[in-house]
Amino acid sequence: MKNEEVLEKVNKGVYLPLMEEFYTIQGEGFHKGTAAYFIRVGGCDVGCHWCDVKESWNAETHPPTAIEQIVDNAAKYSDTIVITGGEPLMWDMNPITKALKEKGLKTHIETSGAYTLSGDWDWICLSPKKNKLPEGRIYEEAHELKVIVYNKHDLIFAEEQAAKTNTNCILYLQPEWSVRDKVVPMIVDYVMNNPKWKVSLQTHKYLNIP
Ligand code: SF4
Repeated sequence: MKNEEVLEKVNKGVYLPLMEEFYTIQGEGFHKGTAAYFIRVGGCDVGCHWCDVKESWNAETHPPTAIEQIVDNAAKYSDTIVITGGEPLMWDMNPITKALKEKGLKTHIETSGAYTLSGDWDWICLSPKKNKLPEGRIYEEAHELKVIVYNKHDLIFAEEQAAKTNTNCILYLQPEWSVRDKVVPMIVDYVMNNPKWKVSLQTHKYLNIP
């Protein structure tokens, strides 16, 4: 297949730059502890300085892969599929979520919301970043808001973001892993004083699994 044909398929979301896929336990947020199949899509220009998947940023380093192949693989492992990145909403998520749903699979996404929401989702985890704020209706659609806390200023950002979400959205504060020892006491104190928030920990890292 010629390069232009592949690019066109990526632009339409029928191919996606696939960085990795793996079956594991969801470590974070509302579904933590649940077995799920993760599809990590390459490409992100949000530029968080503490990002722990910087290898994902350059989409060109990840092979354009047909969504049928991705979905067939996923279906072998789990009925819960988490699409993460990178920033998956850089790509049209309609084709892959349609294909997943046709197989009766549950579709979850982890996104910064920096690009327009596409796709048919059973669960949307919105994790906004200051560098590139979420777009449009995702605040209305998000099932959980997960704000990563690197320092105390992120608590102010968290409140600003929470004010934009729908009333059913579950609110999480999650320590950034590299500074967890420093920020966990601050988060614990904040949540006890502001119980609309919950603590989310990256439990998969404590379990030493992907
Ligand atoms: S949005 Fe996610 S993938 Fe992109 S830079 Fe930030 S943490 Fe990394």
